[in-house]
Amino acid sequence: MSIVVLKLPNVKRQKEERPRGCPYCAGETFQRWGQVSKPVKDMWIRNVRVYRYRCCGCKRTFRHYPEGSSRADQTERLRVFAILLWRLGLSHRASSLILSGLNVWVSFMTIWRDVQAEAEQIQKRNQWKPVRIVGLDGAYVLGWGAKQPVLVAVDLGTGEPLALGYLDESDPQALQRWLAPLIQRHGITVIVTDDLSSYKRVAENLQLGHQVCQFHVRRWVGKALQEFQETVPKEWLWVLEEIHSLIDLLPPDGSKTLYALWKQLPGRQSKREQPRSPLEQLRDLLLRLSQDWHSYCTFQSEPQIPRTSRATEQPMGKMKMRARTVRGYKSRPGMQSGLLLAATSIV
Ligand SMILES: [Zn+2]
Repeated sequence: MSIVVLKLPNVKRQKEERPRGCPYCAGETFQRWGQVSKPVKDMWIRNVRVYRYRCCGCKRTFRHYPEGSSRADQTERLRVFAILLWRLGLSHRASSLILSGLNVWVSFMTIWRDVQAEAEQIQKRNQWKPVRIVGLDGAYVLGWGAKQPVLVAVDLGTGEPLALGYLDESDPQALQRWLAPLIQRHGITVIVTDDLSSYKRVAENLQLGHQVCQFHVRRWVGKALQEFQETVPKEWLWVLEEIHSLIDLLPPDGSKTLYALWKQLPGRQSKREQPRSPLEQLRDLLLRLSQDWHSYCTFQSEPQIPRTSRATEQPMGKMKMRARTVRGYKSRPGMQSGLLLAATSIV
C-alpha cells in the first residue's frame, strides 16, 4: 500500500530573496521601488508584503511576490484547497460554503474557474506523454438534461485517465476516428477492453495488441454455458465442460482445441428462416471463442498487460459519480475537463 502525502503549498508573508531576473529584459540589477501590503484570500493570513523593483537595464518596474502568492486575489494554498474540496466530491457551491466556514470568502464561480484551469494543466501535461497500454471503457453520464455516451482512455501504467471523448463505444467508425490520433500521439500498442465487437474491429484495423477483460469473458461465457446446460442434447454436455475448463485455464493452444470441437459438432441443419437449434448455437460459440482466443491471452505475452479492465473501471466510476453532481456545464470541453479532473487521483 502506498502512503499518501498530501501537502498544501506554503505561503510566505514576505519575500526573503531579491528577484533573479527582470521579467521584461532578463536584466539582473534592480533598485527597490517601494512596497505595498497586498490583501490576500487565504485560510490563515490576510495580507502579504510585495516589493516593487525597478530594473536598471530597461527602467521598468515590476512586483516581486512572496512564495505562494501572485497577482491573483487568492493564495496558491487556498486555490489548491478549494480544488481539493471539489475533487473530494463537493459541488462548487458547497466548496464555497465550507470555505466561508473557515472565514474565507471565495465565490463558487472562482472555484469553477480554478477547477477548469487545473484540469487544463493536467491535460497539457498528458498531451505528449508516452503511454503503451490503455484501458478503454464507455458509459453514459448525465449532461444537458440527457444521458451522454462517453468513452474514457486510462493509462494502465499509472491508472490515470488520459483522454475523454463523447462517443458511443459500440460504434466502430467513431471509435477508430477518436482512437487513431491518440494512438499516434502517445505510441499506444495495446488496448484492454470488454468484449464489444467494435473494439475487436478497431484493434485489428489499427494493428493493436488487444486484451479482452477476463471478468467479462467469464461472465458471458458462464451465462451462455448455463443456458446450454438446459437446452443442448445430453450427449453433448461434455463439450460445455470442455469450454469451461478452457476458459478457466486459458491454454495458449485453446484456439485449436476449440476449433477441433467445432468440427466435431454436426453442421447446420435448420433452414435459413428457422431459428438456430441449441446445438447450432453452441457451434457458433465455439467458433467465436476460437477466433477471439488470442485476445483473451494477450496478457500472457507481457507482465505489464493486465488481464482485466478493473484498473479502467476505477477512474470511470469516479467520473460517473462526479457527473451526477456536476451541473451548469455549458460546453463539452468544460464538462470534459471537469470529469477528467474528477477521475485523476488527488496525489
Ligand atoms: Zn529590465
